[in-house]
Amino acid sequence: MHFFLTLNKDGSVGFSPFQERINQDSKVTSYLCAPLSYATIQAIQEQLQQRDPFGFWDKGFSRKDPKHQILKILKGFGWNASDLTWKENSPSLEFGQDSLEDEDQAHEKDKEVEKAFNRLTMGRQLSMGDLRRLARQLKSQDEDIKKLAQFNVEQGSATWVPAVKPVGNGWQCQRCGEREVEEWPSQYEMAATCRSCESIGPSTSLGVLYRDVRSLLEGPSEVIFQPHWELTEAQRIASEQVFEFIKDPCQETALLWAACGAGKTEVCFPSAAWALKEGKSVLFAAPRQDVINDVAPRLQRDFPDYPLQVLTGTSSVKFQGGGMVLATTHQVLRFWRAFDVIFMDEMDAFPYQGSRALEWGLKHALRQGGKILYLTATPSSEGLKAVKQGKMQLIRLPARHHRTSLPVPMWEKSRHTIAPNGCTGAWVSQIKSLRIQGPVLMFVPKISWIDPWIKCIQRCFPSWCVDGSYSADPERSSKIERLRQGEFDLFVSTTILERGVTLPGIQVVVLEADHPVFDERALVQMAGRVGRTRECPAGSVLFLSARMTPAMRTAVRWIEEQNRLAMELGLIDA
Ligand SMILES: [Zn+2]
Repeated sequence: MHFFLTLNKDGSVGFSPFQERINQDSKVTSYLCAPLSYATIQAIQEQLQQRDPFGFWDKGFSRKDPKHQILKILKGFGWNASDLTWKENSPSLEFGQDSLEDEDQAHEKDKEVEKAFNRLTMGRQLSMGDLRRLARQLKSQDEDIKKLAQFNVEQGSATWVPAVKPVGNGWQCQRCGEREVEEWPSQYEMAATCRSCESIGPSTSLGVLYRDVRSLLEGPSEVIFQPHWELTEAQRIASEQVFEFIKDPCQETALLWAACGAGKTEVCFPSAAWALKEGKSVLFAAPRQDVINDVAPRLQRDFPDYPLQVLTGTSSVKFQGGGMVLATTHQVLRFWRAFDVIFMDEMDAFPYQGSRALEWGLKHALRQGGKILYLTATPSSEGLKAVKQGKMQLIRLPARHHRTSLPVPMWEKSRHTIAPNGCTGAWVSQIKSLRIQGPVLMFVPKISWIDPWIKCIQRCFPSWCVDGSYSADPERSSKIERLRQGEFDLFVSTTILERGVTLPGIQVVVLEADHPVFDERALVQMAGRVGRTRECPAGSVLFLSARMTPAMRTAVRWIEEQNRLAMELGLIDA
């Protein structure tokens, strides 16, 4: 989207995306015919401000010719002055000749679109592509949606922001905060494109973002919260601490460190209900779609009448407005200062972990004075560091609902290399004894091992039903569904199954547990698949490797420490 720079009667410099509206605006004396990017308009305004910090122009005192000044600035950006002409403005106020009836009907429709537009854009940060999609959703024209957006900007309830903006000697993407952008020469000036957030649509310095600053909720409201579960003792203690944190005006962030399978998400529901009643908007965010899809029915069930908005990359359902949103961290980039309370699940999981863009987006989706609670079973080192430094409050949830301790991994030292062709070792009998306890989930460090291991196990145990999967497997979902149904005796997997799945009775073996791909978090998560259900609260975890790595040691220590704390607090029986 492009803008026309205007010189106004009062001496100020303005802009509008609509040439025809400038022609009707009696405040505008002249405008520049060349359409400019918003980044350029903003840069001109900033430079004029620097040259005239006391705002003499605004007061009409300047003797300098503003047109000359502006052309000089544009030349500095590499524009050719001969391309640039000013047009004097002589407003003409002509109305259409439509019959009154037509006008009334059109007016009704416009009002409806305007109402819907305002509901759907509150608290949002949308690119032109997003606005065009919104136009289609509202069965409206791009131009009409642009006009509504511009109207809100003029009213002060929204702003335009260059999607990528010159900052210092470089650039910064305004959607995700990325500074390492790709620079390229556009027709008139240097431009830049952000690659970090392009998966949700392009972001370039020639583009613009519509940032709506209105609150998602209008105030306190009735909220029906009907939990379909009872908190365990461990959950109740954690839930009360979460509630204290949400109400405490002094703390901005907290970390809920839970045992794998302890039910950390439900612990937040009572606080979410309270926040919504108070008129505070709530976001549940997670890095991956499968977590969102898992939480959505639980939230909807416990907040039966509340219009929960579920946003993921593949969901066809569009945002409908409202104060409770469940979204992947990529979708969060489409909100700006929108939420009073954010529950960020699985903070240490891909793709959020290590992504500056998603972290920046999450922080900027929070309103001034808002709260972020990070939830995880395996905190990132930055998270633990912040706790240690006293910057983040720590809340613990060390026990599962069935009051049984977490299975502590056993280490089996292998004297031979653990490759599929070595499947005749002593641990074949161990896999066999694991199978007696339940179906076996076998984690391997590389995709290339999956097929050979399936064949190898099949050779050793011809009567077993064996299969495997990895991230790019086209049959992944159907296989995982069959795994959930307990159809396999043994299933070989990469770390794709380390999180988010509950498989009753499952036993875990990690092959080459000393491989660098298995850090302490992956190891704790893999071990955390075992013993999650009331019917099968125990089980075995076996690490097979030639040596014991620091990651393996840390994983065992974390699990033992959770059990010790749970025991001290009387939250487990054994
Ligand atoms: Zn970006």
